[in-house]
Amino acid sequence: MSPIGGVGINLAVQDAVAAANILAEPLRGGTLTDDHLARVQGRREWPTRVTQSIQLAIQNRVVRRVLAGAAPSKPPFILKLLDWLPALRGIPARLVGIGVRPEHVRTAEATPTSG
Ligand SMILES: Cc1cc2nc3c(=O)[nH]c(=O)nc-3n(C[C@H](O)[C@H](O)[C@H](O)COP(=O)(O)OP(=O)(O)OC[C@H]3O[C@@H](n4cnc5c(N)ncnc54)[C@H](O)[C@@H]3O)c2cc1C
Repeated sequence: MSPIGGVGINLAVQDAVAAANILAEPLRGGTLTDDHLARVQGRREWPTRVTQSIQLAIQNRVVRRVLAGAAPSKPPFILKLLDWLPALRGIPARLVGIGVRPEHVRTAEATPTSG
């Protein structure tokens, strides 16, 4: 995962939550199969690909030009749009903070083991 956008850890936490939601019960019951792992991949592959596509676009259109000393003279159209329409600014904030597929913990609370 590229460091662009600083979203890799968000994705890693979401991956962990999705994995726990899908794998906790089969692990607890000793019934885990490859199909459970495929379900984790099926759920998380799409948000990973979408996030990496956005990172790649930023890399190719902005970072590469800046590093080559050919900084864009004008801000990208999307930034101008956000400047004109402040109501839209929540969208990139949400994409960075929550991602394209939010995950919520659905596992039962773990019981502490004694000793
Ligand atoms: C240079 C750089 C800078 C970054 N900066 C940021 C940043 O500022 N902010 C941000 O949010 N993200 C950043 N990221 C992205 C972020 O680090 C990753 O997205 C995140 O660490 C992924 O977490 P993960 O748990 O999915 O995988 P990893 O952190 O890669 O953990 C996977 C672990 O599994 C282990 N492993 C692999 N195969 C096996 C195996 N067969 N058996 C046992 N263990 C195995 C590996 O050794 C590793 O410890 C950056 C990435 C890079 C490369």
